[in-house]
Amino acid sequence: MAKIMGYIKRIERRKVNEEKINKAIEAFKTAEKIVRDFYDKPVVVTYSGGKDSDVLLDLAIKSGIDFEVSHSITTVDAPQTNRHVNEVFAELKEKGIKAYKKMPIYKGKPVNMFSLIAQKGIPPTRLVRYCCGVFKEGTERNRVVALGVRAAESSKRQNRDTFATWGSKTRDAKYFSLSHVDEVFKDAKEQNEVWDCVIVSTARKHKTILVNPIYDWTYAEIWEYIHENNIAYNELYDMGYSRVGCILCPLANKREKQRDILTFPAYKERYIKAFEKMLEVRKERGKGDGNGGVWKDAESVFKWWIEDKTIEGQMKFDFAEEKKG
Ligand code: SF4
Repeated sequence: MAKIMGYIKRIERRKVNEEKINKAIEAFKTAEKIVRDFYDKPVVVTYSGGKDSDVLLDLAIKSGIDFEVSHSITTVDAPQTNRHVNEVFAELKEKGIKAYKKMPIYKGKPVNMFSLIAQKGIPPTRLVRYCCGVFKEGTERNRVVALGVRAAESSKRQNRDTFATWGSKTRDAKYFSLSHVDEVFKDAKEQNEVWDCVIVSTARKHKTILVNPIYDWTYAEIWEYIHENNIAYNELYDMGYSRVGCILCPLANKREKQRDILTFPAYKERYIKAFEKMLEVRKERGKGDGNGGVWKDAESVFKWWIEDKTIEGQMKFDFAEEKKG
């Protein structure tokens, strides 16, 4: 009996997955229609080297649309991630798909995480995560941009949808369902007035439109898709990581930061050096040692920084689903 129930559950799950796969492919096709009607460059698929972007990329290929792939260098990606990105990009090249890496720029000059910390004069935190703004968000502008964002990743991502307009602050973005976008873009190119819809006027001005084809996918569905389709993935997952991203990301919890310190000890040293420089810059600017005297030296900044004290309202990745998965 238990075997039969397990079999039925697997069939049901596969059916749900098929619906989500079809929906994601439709989202890509709708994105391509918007591009054809309003933009001069193809859809750009962002690729981080993590599991979600591997699924996103595979679905983009399956959709048959014309697209490019962009990887934003954060300068604190793990060597395993860099290796995986290089391997995937080599395969894309063989397939004739344009794939490129973007170097981070701050105030018109190349920057890395460590020089950015010194320039900003404070460490990046959950509340002040300025590094995402420089290294990840908005690196592709005035185009239709596909992202591997999923609602299950964090509570802050719950009330979004498949399509969005871009806002420098999350609250400035507007979200739209796939069915709504399909409806308003059906003949938007020919019509002068399409119900004054924000997403249509955004496309008319050639501003950034975001598409999240796997927005409603769960952690388990991502892995099921990877295994069923034999997709190569980042080796960090086999080392026990459930999420890969920047080393010592302030959004990670204390346990994950401790693991990063053990796995990548050289990065701890580089962050401490960056905090050293940061304290010098603060002194030059007459800003004192900061944080109510807690930042006595670079080591004490580092110790304070890796503590997992979430201040109310801060963004935090929610790993409840990952633990279940
Ligand atoms: S360290 Fe975390 S907050 Fe900073 S860019 Fe990377 S992902 Fe974003």
